[in-house]
Amino acid sequence: MKKTLCLLLAVLLLLSGCTVRQTPAATPAPTETPAPVTPAPTPEPTPTPCPHLCWENGVCADCGEVCTHESWEGGICTRCGSVCAHPAHDAEALLCTRCGEFCRHTYFDGICSRCGAAPEFSDYEVPEELRQKCEHAGTVEHVIYETQEYFGVAPGVELKYNKRMSVYLPYGYDPEKQYDVIVILHGMNCLETYWLDDEQFYDHEETRVYTRDVLDNMIERGLIPPVIVCSPTFYKDQVENTGYLNGSLFATELRNDILPFIMETYSTYAPEPTLEGAARAREHFAFVGLSMGSMIGFQSALSLCLDVFSYFGLYSGFGTYPANILQNIEKDEFRDLPIHYLFNAAGQWDVALGEHRAYYNELLSKTDRVVEGKNASMVVVQEYAHEFRTWIVALYDSLQVFFSYTDGTPPDAETPPDA
Ligand SMILES: [Zn+2]
Ligand SMILES: [Zn+2]
Ligand SMILES: [Zn+2]
Ligand SMILES: [Zn+2]
Repeated sequence: MKKTLCLLLAVLLLLSGCTVRQTPAATPAPTETPAPVTPAPTPEPTPTPCPHLCWENGVCADCGEVCTHESWEGGICTRCGSVCAHPAHDAEALLCTRCGEFCRHTYFDGICSRCGAAPEFSDYEVPEELRQKCEHAGTVEHVIYETQEYFGVAPGVELKYNKRMSVYLPYGYDPEKQYDVIVILHGMNCLETYWLDDEQFYDHEETRVYTRDVLDNMIERGLIPPVIVCSPTFYKDQVENTGYLNGSLFATELRNDILPFIMETYSTYAPEPTLEGAARAREHFAFVGLSMGSMIGFQSALSLCLDVFSYFGLYSGFGTYPANILQNIEKDEFRDLPIHYLFNAAGQWDVALGEHRAYYNELLSKTDRVVEGKNASMVVVQEYAHEFRTWIVALYDSLQVFFSYTDGTPPDAETPPDA
């Protein structure tokens, strides 16, 4: 349109004999000018808050925000799902200073890495509330395992026979979970039922006690982890209490038959039901024995099975042979395996006190593998002798340190939920 007008004007001027002078272009009528295009102001991008759909170890995988864990429930952060590893706790109430949950002491070199306290062993009493019937009681099973004659048979001949074992399973035992294991031995003239089935005299009055009540109550209160306790016997003939197996024969049965049976039948921390499997989970295997069971413990578990056990509770032992133990625990294959705890006890009036203490002192003076107050101790149970009260107090004490090993670093601040 503008062009047409200009052309028309030029033609008219030419016709009128005038020259057309270049003049600055006329300012076009305002109505014909397109309004200058100023871009519409783009709205400030309002940040959409990250919904934190994927937390990984307390860090949002999408935006990198670190969760401050402001509220915990049952030891789990309600926001990010992190599991509190209870890095510190109150030494008295044992409540995590971070999430408020109860957590037991975890020891390294005799000091709790959560609160700095040393274990306080009793030398007289199992607290009364731990000796009562527990509402949530475990069960005791009676199982049969196959073993064989390991001595005096012609090469290639197998003389198989069956033996009984009592097994305590904690309340709510779940084969999908993993459990610590204690192998526990009775004394002379008793059987596999001594610790887990039979009621025993607790004191010189008429007070009786069952070991399994103490286990139930300690587990219920979180003082020990849920644990499987297996009580075999060192006698071959379980009717007559005869055919005693010495330490090395018992060690053979323990390694070849008892431990594989336990690992095949129950859910332990061993990744496979073999000695190699047990060796990879040795911080989850403890051995306890009293009197003759202690003697066998010195000669079998402590001397010959250090690859598969790392906690020991040996009470009122004779036949300790410290030179033998020393020689065995310093063997090449055992030298680098930590003894997490060696707990010893005997009664004040115990016939075995002298010998047990002598062995203990010799061990302390001749090897740095066991250090009093760090990974070893000996408690003398006051006013009691070679009798059950001494041993149940000793077991109660041992349980406080069993399976409490840490490598010295404080527990992680948090662990993934499936850890
Ligand atoms: Zn996020
Ligand atoms: Zn959190
Ligand atoms: Zn916590
Ligand atoms: Zn502590």
